[in-house]
Amino acid sequence: MTASTAHPIASYFSESYTESREKFLAAADAADARLTSIKHPGQGPDGEALYMDVASVGRQDAENAVVIVAGTHGIEGFCGAGVQTALLNNPEALAGLGDVKVVMIHGHNPHGFAWLRRVNEDNVDLNRNYVDFSEPQDLNEYYLEVKDLVLPQTFGDESEAAMQAWIAENGVENYQKAVMSGQRIDSQGVFYGGTKATWSNQTMHKVLPEVLAQQKNVALMDIHTGLGPYGHGDLIHSYPADTLEYKELQNWFGEEVIAINAGEYGDVVAAVPRGPIVSSLDTILPEHRSFALVNEYGTVEFDRVIKAIRADNWLHINGDLDSEQGRAIKQEMRDSFYCVKDEWRQMIWDRAIWSFERMAEGLRNL
Ligand SMILES: [Zn+2]
Repeated sequence: MTASTAHPIASYFSESYTESREKFLAAADAADARLTSIKHPGQGPDGEALYMDVASVGRQDAENAVVIVAGTHGIEGFCGAGVQTALLNNPEALAGLGDVKVVMIHGHNPHGFAWLRRVNEDNVDLNRNYVDFSEPQDLNEYYLEVKDLVLPQTFGDESEAAMQAWIAENGVENYQKAVMSGQRIDSQGVFYGGTKATWSNQTMHKVLPEVLAQQKNVALMDIHTGLGPYGHGDLIHSYPADTLEYKELQNWFGEEVIAINAGEYGDVVAAVPRGPIVSSLDTILPEHRSFALVNEYGTVEFDRVIKAIRADNWLHINGDLDSEQGRAIKQEMRDSFYCVKDEWRQMIWDRAIWSFERMAEGLRNL
């Protein structure tokens, strides 16, 4: 069933980090949410302050919690934040989740959100950063094969042709292994996982146990964009097939859920990322029984998204943000990770609220 709202769903989505934050805070206030805002040390392109905002609604000491994360990959926060703001504005949809505390993280990576980037202030991909840094990490030296093609001196048709030639010669699968699984060998490269816990990672480790101190069971959904069919939300988790979590998520979502470690996402992405937050929720919340998954919404075709990521990486390292090319690259980033059509936004909301209902019910039936 689709919950209705007083306003069109599209009106809860925004066009800038600041607009998104303002809408989120106003909606949280109107919903009598408890709010904690943690200031980020950096600032946005117009000098605006950046925050990770944490709003919670529902019975504060409920046994179960649904956690909704927006903006792990900065710019992808436009989608997740739209869903959060729509939910806060929709008492009927919130009530439909039953007796559960709902926690919303707006701006997991506020710097990338404001700068229209996927990465954070350190050029780190947060979903390659949630690893145990006390253990030796795989640097992914294979990345060196593509390093100079990914980050050329000048970005344009020529550099793209060279990149495409490498992919044609070595195959998409090898390209994905070199690049998308993550790397810790080139801090100026793409899908860089970092060598220490980022501000966002450290903040999450503080914030989540605090806000969930009274809960026993937690289901977390991290909302992303840029992969999969237009407007469709792929529900992806990384629990191995022999785990209780795998079985539970299967019960909750049936055939709608994809286990990435079982190769079920292979036709879209051949490389399993190392270090997403959803793979380390047990470490962040060791006292809780937790379930984590990604909701990945499709935008435009995969090749276009990957090219936009390379162009944006080049722009921030070798290019000029205040140039015609710089502005074009930023527009392409936006178009690759966020769709302006009302139809897309409605699809996002319908899938999201359905997923939250499944999560809340799943927790209740544990
Ligand atoms: Zn993402």
